[in-house]
Amino acid sequence: MSDVAAATALVWFRNDLRLADNPALRAALDDGYTPIPIYIHAPDEQGDWRPGAASDAWRHHSLAALDRELRARGSHLRRFVGPSLPTLQSLLLATDAEAVYWNRRYEPAIEKRDTRIKQTLRRQGVRAESHNGALLFEPWQLATKQGDPYRVFTPFWRTALAAWRLQPTWEPPARLPSSMQGPEGVALEALKLLPSRDWDSGFWEHWTPGEAGARETLETFLEGALEGYAQQRDRPDRVGTSRLSPHLHFGEIAPWRVVAALETQRNAARAGDIDAAIRELGWREFAHHLLHHFPHTPERNFNPRFDDFDWARLVQPRLQDWQHGRTGVPIVDAGMRELWHTGWMHNRVRMIVASYLTKHLRYHWRHGARWFWDTLVDADLANNTLGWQWVAGTGADAAPYFRVFNPVTQSEKFDPDGRYIARWVPELAALPLPLRHAPWREPATLRRFAPDYPPQPLVDLAAGRDAALAAYRKQRG
Ligand code: FAD
Repeated sequence: MSDVAAATALVWFRNDLRLADNPALRAALDDGYTPIPIYIHAPDEQGDWRPGAASDAWRHHSLAALDRELRARGSHLRRFVGPSLPTLQSLLLATDAEAVYWNRRYEPAIEKRDTRIKQTLRRQGVRAESHNGALLFEPWQLATKQGDPYRVFTPFWRTALAAWRLQPTWEPPARLPSSMQGPEGVALEALKLLPSRDWDSGFWEHWTPGEAGARETLETFLEGALEGYAQQRDRPDRVGTSRLSPHLHFGEIAPWRVVAALETQRNAARAGDIDAAIRELGWREFAHHLLHHFPHTPERNFNPRFDDFDWARLVQPRLQDWQHGRTGVPIVDAGMRELWHTGWMHNRVRMIVASYLTKHLRYHWRHGARWFWDTLVDADLANNTLGWQWVAGTGADAAPYFRVFNPVTQSEKFDPDGRYIARWVPELAALPLPLRHAPWREPATLRRFAPDYPPQPLVDLAAGRDAALAAYRKQRG
């Protein structure tokens, strides 16, 4: 009995910063081990996609929350800085642990690294086990009848729905066994995840990183925005979506718990909203399916026909105007400022700002994807790649390049009272409607109410659109 109690296993937390529904933790406990929870900070192992500043800031707070959850159960998180494999190896020796458990990540560089780690540890006689803690389906699980990856969402999702079974949720025990053996690691601050200047402080008025924050966000969604979600989800002027994306990205909540919670609300009146919400989680699944099968797509076009597309030569100040919300197009500027101030942007507005960058400015989608990567608290290689390539028209199942969003029409349709614009571009709040959507149309009024706002858009909208379409025709030509 005492021998069994003494056997320990490392539980290696990564993007699964929760205790409930944590398959790695659960497996270690079920196998009779005392779990030693660890986190290893090794951002260089993410290849070209080391986490951006907003992600790092979130991770700092989420790791603190995870440690609190563990301490409440008599355990705690040990943090280490350094290359993952040697760190695991020396920890195995120092703690006498027999096994390592973790939940899988699916970014190509990390997948490769983890495979190498698993093979090496197993060769050395260590039990090394990975689990699915992030997705409803493994990215390789679903295939077309021909055995190929899906490239179109609708058939992917049809197959997924037919194959899917509701997974049971799991709560961790109130007390976790703990071990004092081996090094304690470093303080959270030693990971240096917080930005050097105080750019992120506004974020935390909007977000509570960690498992408890994720649960609360889900509850708020069920009690509020879920009703009418199918219609409201396109309205940035309302709280019309769940805002679960950073919590899902960091694994603070399992997607199957979200689905289970949605299903508890199902009745005839709500079925449409629930199906729509689950379908969005389906896009997340699809994004991971694509990233797994087409690992080059964070850098290169999914559709190689765009490899010689005539993207405009990058002019840094113009890119900076887009980044900082000074394009002169209010809905674009509102989105970019929402992103800067909160680390998040509404999905509809993500599409609008991405379309403006890739069509009206005709900049390569990579410039936008990189900026989002650095500034989004939900920056996610699979979802971000899918989103950018979808809008740019270069991706799988993408909006065709020739479908150029008119930002003014979009703004009038999805922010009809101009409230979203007024919130994030307050200098335009005094402008009457419909001028708030296109203030350059009355230069004198704009000068009077908002003298510091750009008097003209960076590019004339009609000219930008025509140039984009001309480049598209040339490329097809
Ligand atoms: P809800 O509408 O409540 O949806 C619930 C969950 O479903 C989301 O939390 C998210 O995990 C998933 N989801 C919803 N829409 C999508 C989608 N289109 N693609 C994939 N998953 C989706 N999402 C990210 O999580 N990280 C990113 O880096 C990211 N970059 C994007 C870039 C562009 C250019 C675009 C157009 C979209 C991007 N998205 C990204 C997708 C989407 O905008 C966000 O997931 C969504 O806005 C998050 O808000 P929510 O949690 O309230 O979504």
